[in-house]
Amino acid sequence: MTRSEFRKDIISGEWVLLAGGLKKKPNFFSEKKPKAASKKDCPFEVLNKKEIKFSSGFVNVIPNKFPILTPHKICPSPFGEGPYQKMAGVGFQEVVVTRDHDRSLGFMTTEEISMVLDAYLERYKELQKEECIEYILIFHNNGPTAGASVAHPHSQILALPIVPLDVSRSLLGSGNYFHENKKCAHCEVLKKEFKDKKRIVSENKDFVAVSPFASHVSFETRIYPKKHSSNFEEIGEGEKKSFADIVRVVLAKIKNGMNNADYNFFIHTAPAKAKDVKHYHWHMEILPRTNIWGGLELGSGTEVVKVPPEEAARILRSSKV
Ligand SMILES: [Zn+2]
Ligand SMILES: [Zn+2]
Repeated sequence: MTRSEFRKDIISGEWVLLAGGLKKKPNFFSEKKPKAASKKDCPFEVLNKKEIKFSSGFVNVIPNKFPILTPHKICPSPFGEGPYQKMAGVGFQEVVVTRDHDRSLGFMTTEEISMVLDAYLERYKELQKEECIEYILIFHNNGPTAGASVAHPHSQILALPIVPLDVSRSLLGSGNYFHENKKCAHCEVLKKEFKDKKRIVSENKDFVAVSPFASHVSFETRIYPKKHSSNFEEIGEGEKKSFADIVRVVLAKIKNGMNNADYNFFIHTAPAKAKDVKHYHWHMEILPRTNIWGGLELGSGTEVVKVPPEEAARILRSSKV
C-alpha cells in the first residue's frame, strides 16, 4: 500500500482511513508524547505566501503539510477485495492558523473568533464545490492530551469522499425520530432544555450551549442554533456574531472553570451536498479532556461520566468569562 486508502469495516459499515507509504511525520516512532515546539521552531510562524488559501491577517488557511488525503482528478469508487471494500484516500486537508503562538481560542476576543469562523465558512463553501466531497469536517484540538501535535493554535478542515460513521449514525437516528414524531429531535431537545434550565451553560439571542442529558464525557458541551437549520454554512451575518460570542464564552469558561483543560471541538453539519434536512440540526460539540480511555471505555465505547451534566452545567455557568 503506497497511497492512503479508506477501508470499510464489514460489520459496522464504518470507513477507516489508512495512511499510505513511509512518509510519516518526523519522529513518528520515537516521539511518545507530543512536545510543544517553541515559537522558534514553530512551523506556523512563517507561512509560505504561495500556499495560503485564505487570509484575513489574523487568520490564515494553508494545506496540511503531512496530508493523508490527496486531491483527486476523478472521484473514487469503492471496489471489492473478496468480502471487503476499499477506496482511494482522496480529499483535502487544510489548517486554519491564528496569528499568536501562545493564545488559544479561550483567550481570544469575539471579533477574533468571528475571524476564525469566517475562515471556516469561506473554506467550507469552496470545498463544498469540489466533486466527490461528501462531508466536510471542521475540528480543533487544543492541548497535547487532545492530540494537538503543534502547540500553535490551529483548527483543521477535512473534506472527505465519505460521510463519517458518527455523522451517518446521527443522521439515521434523527431521521428515525422525525419519521415517528414529525419533529426535529434536536429542536425537541432544546425545548426540553429551555424548560428544565439546569443543563444550560450559556445562551444568547441566537444560540444556546447545553450539557447534554446523556453526556458522553464529563463537561461535554454542545452549542446549537436556536432556530432550526441543518447547514452550518447557511449561518447569517448576525447569527455569526452570536455564534462567535457563545463560542468565546464557552471556551473561556472551560479555561477559567476547568484549569485551562485540553479539549477538542468539531462542527457537525449536514453532508456537503445535502440542503435543508428537516431532521438534522447543525451544532458544535466541545469535549474537554478529563479522562484517559482505558479498557472499559474502549471496550464499551463510552466512559463513566464522573460529573453529571447538571453539575457540569452549574460549574460552567458560574465560571468566569
Ligand atoms: Zn507558532
Ligand atoms: Zn431542529
